[in-house]
Amino acid sequence: MSVPYSTDDAGHPAPSDGLSQSVGPNGPLLLQDHFLIQKMAHFNRERVPERVVHAKGGGAFGELEITEDVSRYTKADLFQKGKKTPLLLRFSTVAGELGSADSARDPRGFAIKFYTEHGNYDLVGNNTPIFFIRDPSKFSDFIHSQKRRADNQLRDHNMQWDFWTLNPESAHQVSFLMTDRGTPKTWRHMNGYGSHTFLWYNADGEKFWVKYHFKTDQGIENLSADAAKALEADDPDAHRRDLWESIEQGEHPSWTVKVQVMPFDDAVNYRINPFDLTKVWPHGDYPEITVGKMTLNRNPQNYFAEIEQAAFEPSNLVPGIGGSPDKMLQGRLFSYPDTHRYRIGPNYLQLPVNQPKVATRSYNFDGPMAYANNQDPVYAPNTAGGAVSANELYEGDSYHVSGEITRSAYELHKEDDDFSQPRALWEQILTESERASMVSNIVGHASAPSVTDDMKKRVVEYWTNVHPDLGAGVAKGLGVQS
Ligand code: NDP
Repeated sequence: MSVPYSTDDAGHPAPSDGLSQSVGPNGPLLLQDHFLIQKMAHFNRERVPERVVHAKGGGAFGELEITEDVSRYTKADLFQKGKKTPLLLRFSTVAGELGSADSARDPRGFAIKFYTEHGNYDLVGNNTPIFFIRDPSKFSDFIHSQKRRADNQLRDHNMQWDFWTLNPESAHQVSFLMTDRGTPKTWRHMNGYGSHTFLWYNADGEKFWVKYHFKTDQGIENLSADAAKALEADDPDAHRRDLWESIEQGEHPSWTVKVQVMPFDDAVNYRINPFDLTKVWPHGDYPEITVGKMTLNRNPQNYFAEIEQAAFEPSNLVPGIGGSPDKMLQGRLFSYPDTHRYRIGPNYLQLPVNQPKVATRSYNFDGPMAYANNQDPVYAPNTAGGAVSANELYEGDSYHVSGEITRSAYELHKEDDDFSQPRALWEQILTESERASMVSNIVGHASAPSVTDDMKKRVVEYWTNVHPDLGAGVAKGLGVQS
């Protein structure tokens, strides 16, 4: 079989794959050599800016299959019994850059794009059910504290503990991070969570609040701090490799999909604020209900096109699912599409991986790199037979709010405080050996040379608030007099 000829990007047969045009064999090169110029110029433009958070990751395609009837809670087409919906799932670490090690202690991103019949539904979650903060005005400060200093571009544990100890609402998430779940064995061996609270509404417009849980069918497995450190050096791409190879070998990882459902009116008087992203809903109050199974079964063909340029946004919601008063979710509804417009360009939704699998009939058009073939009329309303909105599909996506415009923390519910839930994790959930590794992980982290003696005292105080035994263990490990 003859090998096809190579071309430039416009399809012209390439005159050479390795020789530039010159004046004689030894002479200078020519500006007219379009093949060389295109090759060099395109190379200079090979990267889009890396994500400011969640830069290092990997992902695969798969399917969500709904096995149970939850139509009394939502009419969303992807959650109807028997339905199979194609999806993309991207995993990531948060703070490291594109080349950083997969086994670093960090939460893991767990971002899903479901290609539904009503457009794309994105659930942009993590491997933890909670987060470090509950107000988006703190987000960039939080991320700055986890990334690099301005002066020497080094990461700095003192800066990390400074932020955490000044923001006690972080204690629950930092507790998760400091257990061995902070260093999962692979992406396949961890749970995913939607983390935020979302609105579900059924065909009658009846409303519920929900939280999503994706339970790994591979079982939870974690790395010890030492094993994670060793892997950082031995194979920085270990998790990307593991996912790729297991799918290539036909071992398709899966997760059982569950939700917690809260009747709409419970939210007002529930003992904790159900929209506070630093809190879980205890399972005893709202048990998990199985919905279906999510399986990954296909690797990307081109990493850059399908994973690096994948654009997840919590604002991709479909009829039957809405947002909630969770302030962090509200902030992300803006910031995710905004970052994609900057990072990829305003027409990022036209890229094949981000394109819905249904026809779009939007009145937005043009802009850099547009190739969607918009037809007239280009405005609404119109008398030219153009598409009209489907308001009726969103009946139920509404709730009443009123109040003074203010800058204040959430009003407290009966049992809102920053330490009860991490205390429950320490007291009721962790085994003795998990508690021991949590103490040793904290001590290891806060023993970094940059952490000052004063900061170590604050670290001990922070953990003593979670539990006196935990505080005492950390004090002992750090050599702080308690
Ligand atoms: P439950 O006993 O009903 O649930 C505790 C949950 O903790 C388990 O279902 C499991 O959830 C998770 N878990 C088990 N081992 C660990 C571990 N080593 N590290 C982190 N999580 C673990 O108790 P409650 O629902 O009343 O919650 C008690 C505490 O458990 C909470 O304060 C929270 O810290 C933690 N937790 C609660 C979750 C929830 O959504 N209610 C979810 C995760 C943790 P999973 O199968 O999701 O891993």
